Amino acid sequence: MANSGPTTYPDVLTILQYPAPVLRKLATPVTAFDERLRAFAERMFETMYAAKGVGLAAPQVGVSRRLFVTDHAQRDGNGHSDRRVFINPRIENASGEETYEEGCLSFPGVYAKVTRHNRFDFVYQDLLGFEQRLTLDVEAGDFLGVVVQHELDHLDGKVFVDHLTAAQVTLVKRRLREMEKDYKTEHGKAGAVLRR
Ligand SMILES: [Zn+2]
Repeated sequence: MANSGPTTYPDVLTILQYPAPVLRKLATPVTAFDERLRAFAERMFETMYAAKGVGLAAPQVGVSRRLFVTDHAQRDGNGHSDRRVFINPRIENASGEETYEEGCLSFPGVYAKVTRHNRFDFVYQDLLGFEQRLTLDVEAGDFLGVVVQHELDHLDGKVFVDHLTAAQVTLVKRRLREMEKDYKTEHGKAGAVLRR
């Protein structure tokens, strides 16, 4: 897709569920750091909070662009907040592994343990387009490190279920089938289903 002209973002955001095809698309970089982008990020936060999530990626609301929002402090449920916007992010200097139970707003009712990098640098642009770098260590308590790896996957057309072993998939298969059936009923076609 060509990056000519301003990106238009939807005014009303709806969280799309598996197997919506946009969840399988490689998202394109954000190139305009303008008022439209800031307003869109604000709507993403509102949508994420309403759904009680700790992270939301643009493809999950049907916008195939490389950005996501997080507020990992929401997990504690004690009123704390740590709002962050990550644009055009990437992982550098990854080492070690950690396993956490994950869920996803696009897979309601599905939870599974996923193994990801333990320590890494997260390089991204902020809302003004400035490059930022965070060093995260999951084992040392950076739960944000789990969230950003999950959300980065969304920008690459991947979902957390892709990381599961065959045995783990067996445990969530029934729920996936239900979602596939619901999608087909609503859209009259199959969507982008997991090939397992
Ligand atoms: Zn997700």
